Amino acid sequence: MTESHLSGSGLALGGRLTVDLGAMARNWKALEKVSSGALTAAVVKADAYGTGLVPASRTFFEAGARFFFTATADEGIALRRALPEAHIFILNGLYPGAAQLYVEERLMPVLSSIPMIEEWLLLCIDRNEAFPAALHFDTGMNRLGLRLNEASIVKRQLDDLGFQPQMIMSHFACADQPQHEKNRAQLALFQAVMQQFPGIPASMANSAGLMTGRENHFQMVRPGIALYGGRAVNGRRNPMYPAVTLEAPILQIKDVRTGESVGYGATQTMPRDSRLAVLGLGYADGLFRSLSSSNARAGGKVAIRGRVVPIVGRVSMDLSVIDITDLGPDVPVPGEMVEVFGRTISVDDQADAAGTIGYELLTAMKGRYARRYIGGPAEGI
Ligand SMILES: *Cc1c(COP(=O)(O)O)cnc(C)c1O
Repeated sequence: MTESHLSGSGLALGGRLTVDLGAMARNWKALEKVSSGALTAAVVKADAYGTGLVPASRTFFEAGARFFFTATADEGIALRRALPEAHIFILNGLYPGAAQLYVEERLMPVLSSIPMIEEWLLLCIDRNEAFPAALHFDTGMNRLGLRLNEASIVKRQLDDLGFQPQMIMSHFACADQPQHEKNRAQLALFQAVMQQFPGIPASMANSAGLMTGRENHFQMVRPGIALYGGRAVNGRRNPMYPAVTLEAPILQIKDVRTGESVGYGATQTMPRDSRLAVLGLGYADGLFRSLSSSNARAGGKVAIRGRVVPIVGRVSMDLSVIDITDLGPDVPVPGEMVEVFGRTISVDDQADAAGTIGYELLTAMKGRYARRYIGGPAEGI
């Protein structure tokens, strides 16, 4: 992508985020195809993994998704405004005092404690209506979820009131490592809970669980990261279409001499006469400071004109510097865009260089970006 940044988005000259909604629709359809008849939901928490809650959710809805998961009620309300017909689960459960709001907005809490269940049931009794909600059982993650020994108590309590949960669910701790023994242990524990709730739809699989075994699918699968093109399963080729590209504009080109240092702390000195490009993107934009480079340690890389070149020196708040010496006479011009991640460098490879995971890189994209959506319904997916 060598077009001038200025022509695309006025005079912002910050980073540019391109979200390929067509790729996201294809990813949803591909996952739905391998879901062995289970309903394929879409997890759109954290602004749809940084891609934009509303455009992402509309895309999945158009592709066929009807069930959506957000983390918070606020996210659920924003989604309700965009998709009046969606079924929306709130993963973080029911906040104290918020039951009425959930009912008004037709949000389904994923109830993960006895106080949450009691608050929900109180409202149902008060309104004389069984408002739908899911139950979350903790099968070993020790994050949200009812403890397994609470299952029978809860079941009795619900039966007494004639209340049937919409769904029961649990969550894998190690699905990204298919050989991990904890997967089988959690699955067995969840199946024991399912036996206590006969006939109630069940859901266990995130992206990795979905992609690694039919036995994880049950009645609904809950992919997140794979929809956005990220790597769900470690140690395997990622089959998903990349959907997100982050680019930074070149602000200045400069030539430095052997032995000159670059950036804060002068942590990197150039071992040869070098040509540098200063990029208008820094850690305040989600370009992690851990991608910095020093004499002791290589940092992240970016791609320009199809070539991969290194970040040099420390990434600072609004700026970073790359070494373009190896481009030779092929000198880029200020305004030209450089890929931080996208087609040439995957979000997961960049995350590896930053010592983190693609999920964190995607959800950290809160920078001063021009956002661009391509491949969406307007372009005829
Ligand atoms: C985030 C989340 C998912 C989606 O996980 P991915 O790894 O992104 O597919 C599914 N279920 C629960 C409970 C989650 O918190």
